[in-house]
Amino acid sequence: MLADEGAMSADTPLRVLLANPRGFCAGVERAIETVERALAKHGAPVYVRHEIVHNARVCDGLRAKGAVFVEELSEVPAGSVVIFSAHGVPRRVEEEAAAGHHAVIDATCPLVAKVHGSARRYAAEGREVILIGHRGHVEVEGTLGQVDAPLHVVASVEEVAALQLPADTPVAYVTQTTLSVTDTQGIIAAIRARFSDTEGPETRDICYATQNRQQAVREIAPDVELFLVVGARNSSNSNRLVEIARDAGVPARLVPAAEEFDPAWLEGIASVGITAGASAPQVIIDELIERLAKHRTLDIEARQGVRENITFKLPREIDHRDRARRVAV
Ligand code: SF4
Repeated sequence: MLADEGAMSADTPLRVLLANPRGFCAGVERAIETVERALAKHGAPVYVRHEIVHNARVCDGLRAKGAVFVEELSEVPAGSVVIFSAHGVPRRVEEEAAAGHHAVIDATCPLVAKVHGSARRYAAEGREVILIGHRGHVEVEGTLGQVDAPLHVVASVEEVAALQLPADTPVAYVTQTTLSVTDTQGIIAAIRARFSDTEGPETRDICYATQNRQQAVREIAPDVELFLVVGARNSSNSNRLVEIARDAGVPARLVPAAEEFDPAWLEGIASVGITAGASAPQVIIDELIERLAKHRTLDIEARQGVRENITFKLPREIDHRDRARRVAV
C-alpha cells in the first residue's frame, strides 16, 4: 500500500531493505582478480578486450592500474598481454589473438564457457540450435561466434513462433546467462510446444547468481514502495532486476552511480529496496546509502537470502602459485 503522502516529511524515517545476495558474483570476482594478477605479473599495459565486466567504476579502477580496454584486437600492439572479458569472445577473436602473437588470458566466466560447449555439442549432433538471448549483447555475440553452425537468436515467444523451421526439426536451446528466469521459462515452453524433438539443459543456463539476485528482489518487492538497482546501463542482469521489481508492481530505477540518485524519488515514499547487479561493486551501494541518509533518517534492514559459496579457479594462464599474493581491489 502506498504511504500517505500528506503524512510524509523529510523527518519520516525511510525503511531500507537490502536484498541478499546482491552485487558481485563469482565470475565477476574472478575476472577482476585476473586483470589485477596479470598486471602484477606482467606489468602495464595489459590489454582487455571489451569492459572486463559491465561497470565503469570497476573499469576505471583497473585503468588507473594500467589496464587498457579495447573493443578490437586491431588496437593492440603485436605480442601484448590480452585478457578476454567475462562475457566470452567469438572464435574470430581467438584467431586474431593468435595471429597477433598475443599472450592470451581468458577470463570468460566458466558458466558462459559451459553454454559455448553445450551449443557446440548440440550443433555437432545435427540439431538447429536456438539461442535465447538479446541480439547485440556481447555474451550473445561471443556464443554465436563459438559455434560453426548458424544459431537462431530469439528473445520472445513471438520470435519463437516466427522461426522458419518445420515443426519436426530436431532443435536444441541454450540461453544467455543473465536473462529473466520467468521470461525464459515462457520462451522454453514455446520452443517445446512448437518443436516435437527438443533438447535443452535440464536446468536452464541462467546462472546461479542471476537467479539468486532475481529471487531476492521478488521476495522484497511486496514490502517496499520503490526499488533501486545499482548497476550499469549496459548490464543485462541489472536491467533484468529492474524489470523484475516492476513486474512485481514496484516502481524501480537503475542507479549506475550514486550521483544519479534524485531525492525527488523519495517524495511520499516510506520504504525502499536496494539491490545491485552482478557487476556492481559494493562501494556504489555504500555511496547510494550515504546519499539517502542526507535526505532521510534511515532504518536499514539486510534481508537474509541464499548464501552463495561459489568460487571459480583463476584462468590457467595465471600462475596459481601466486594465489597467496592477493592484490588489493
Ligand atoms: Fe558468470 Fe553469472 Fe557472473 Fe555472468 S553473472 S559472470 S555468468 S556468474
